[in-house]
Amino acid sequence: MEYYRPESFAEALPLLSEFGDSATVIAGGTDLLVDMKFRGFRPACLININSLRDLSYVEENGEGLRIGALTSIQALLKNKLLQEEYTGIADAARQFASIQIRNLATVGGNLGRASPCGEMAPPLLTLDATVVVASEGKEKEVDLTDFFLGPGQSILQPDELLREIRIKPLPAHTGSSYWRLSYRDVLDLAIVGVASRVTLDGDNRVAEARVALGAVAPKPIRAEKTEALLKDQLLSEDLIVEAGKMAAQEATPISDQRSSAKYRTNMTAVLTKRSLRSAAAAAAKGEGEGE
Ligand SMILES: Cc1cc2nc3c(=O)[nH]c(=O)nc-3n(C[C@H](O)[C@H](O)[C@H](O)COP(=O)(O)OP(=O)(O)OC[C@H]3O[C@@H](n4cnc5c(N)ncnc54)[C@H](O)[C@@H]3O)c2cc1C
Repeated sequence: MEYYRPESFAEALPLLSEFGDSATVIAGGTDLLVDMKFRGFRPACLININSLRDLSYVEENGEGLRIGALTSIQALLKNKLLQEEYTGIADAARQFASIQIRNLATVGGNLGRASPCGEMAPPLLTLDATVVVASEGKEKEVDLTDFFLGPGQSILQPDELLREIRIKPLPAHTGSSYWRLSYRDVLDLAIVGVASRVTLDGDNRVAEARVALGAVAPKPIRAEKTEALLKDQLLSEDLIVEAGKMAAQEATPISDQRSSAKYRTNMTAVLTKRSLRSAAAAAAKGEGEGE
């Protein structure tokens, strides 16, 4: 196997374009090394991007929030701005694996893996995130909703790298949250994951809502009918219950070793309610994004 360890982003892209289909990018390796050690995956050429420190950052300016693809999940968890204002992202990072895995695992690797139960996609979908995809001499910005194609599949081409995640500034009185169900608190994948983002007007009415579901469809999805149900309505407990039912209808889960489809559907309703209550509480307190 050929092995390269570029020191900068500018050095990495020509390698990807040279090796194309035969190259595989490795970041934290927490998914890829499992594939290589236990699932017989043998890449012809491994390009280790873990030294690209120029891709590890969380920054906010007038244009919004930018997260470098190489940012570790632990760095997201420890970031004060995310803890205070982008609570959905911080919630997901807190529930992610264990500290050892969080130190290695990157947000770009989590999206690049395109797992239906990947933890970071739902909260980012509720924040209308875009991703910057780069190849030698080219760069494009893509809505995260268009990034995932199916289990383990994304729009990423062999010569492309995920460089950055972008989130536009959010209105005041916005709150977000992520809830997940797993059998164990640590080192377990989500049976269901639900993220919500709510922007309230002065009268507890929903100016804008986003709900995203993980582990209950072939890819992380927005629950758009649920969002439409919530929009412009008074955020009562009755409405939250209705939203839970609607989100469960939008889920199309499978049965596997971790759960039956029926249990996943039922828990989608439960977690949607919890997630909406948390997001609404953060928005009502004025603790949400945009404050
Ligand atoms: C014990 C254990 C527990 C886990 N628990 C969780 C959990 O709770 N929640 C969860 O969501 N996941 C979990 N995972 C899965 C894994 O840790 C995450 O998906 C992690 O974020 C992957 O990031 P990485 O940097 O390690 O990716 P890698 O393994 O290095 O790469 C993963 C994939 O993404 C591609 N890739 C990586 N970076 C880029 C980039 N910048 N541009 C383009 N492609 C890229 C790689 O080519 C590869 O296909 C767990 C894994 C283990 C081993």
